Amino acid sequence: MWRGVLLDVGGVLLVGDRAAPGAADTLRALRRRGIPLRLLSNTSSCSRATLADRLRRAGLEVETPEVLTATTATADHLRGAGGTSLFFVAPDARADLAGLAPSDDHPDHVVVGDTDAIFARAAMDRAVRALRHGADLVAMARNRWYQTAAGPAVDVGAAVAALEYAAEVEALVVGKPSPGFFRQGVRSMGLPSGAVVMVGDDPEADVLGAQRAGLDAVYVGPRRDWAAVASVPATIPSIGHLLELFPQT
Ligand SMILES: [Mg+2]
Repeated sequence: MWRGVLLDVGGVLLVGDRAAPGAADTLRALRRRGIPLRLLSNTSSCSRATLADRLRRAGLEVETPEVLTATTATADHLRGAGGTSLFFVAPDARADLAGLAPSDDHPDHVVVGDTDAIFARAAMDRAVRALRHGADLVAMARNRWYQTAAGPAVDVGAAVAALEYAAEVEALVVGKPSPGFFRQGVRSMGLPSGAVVMVGDDPEADVLGAQRAGLDAVYVGPRRDWAAVASVPATIPSIGHLLELFPQT
């Protein structure tokens, strides 16, 4: 049985700024059983500390180091790769990139997170010049759009696609569904991939991504067509049902 759990945040633990039904009880029950957990979020608009605060304000018991975001994954990647970066990152997320060398001219990497700044013409120009000079493009995520109260809104993946097109390069995506992000979560619990389950509401980013990294997946949401996946995941209507998948002790 699973000895560790990775949990998506948006749509699984939080719906908007509120805790999803059963989320607080499920986290408590996992801890009571001694099952380690990590939160795996593609958020790059804020720091892990800010996201952890949001979760706690919603009534969820979460320690900041348990929160892994696309930004913390990017920091890991850049530490391994070395070199300098031209950063397009939300101000609040910069804390998670501390210690990494910035550079405005001739950087080794152009790093794009969820920030309005990248959608400005001048910013795009700076990025394209660096990319055409040989920098590689590191995208924290490449989500196309997201839902708001007013309807769909353009997400940072659209800016990443624009840079790929203009510079004729392909971005390295660090967040989900990149296998490296899942492995980072697994490693931080000191467990093998086969002993860990990913719980998420995005069929591609959460389910497919986890399966490609060698993890089991549990899908939270309505039943759907699973033609593309390695194996059909267990499906629960909400996070409050997760413990039903664990043997009772
Ligand atoms: Mg989600």
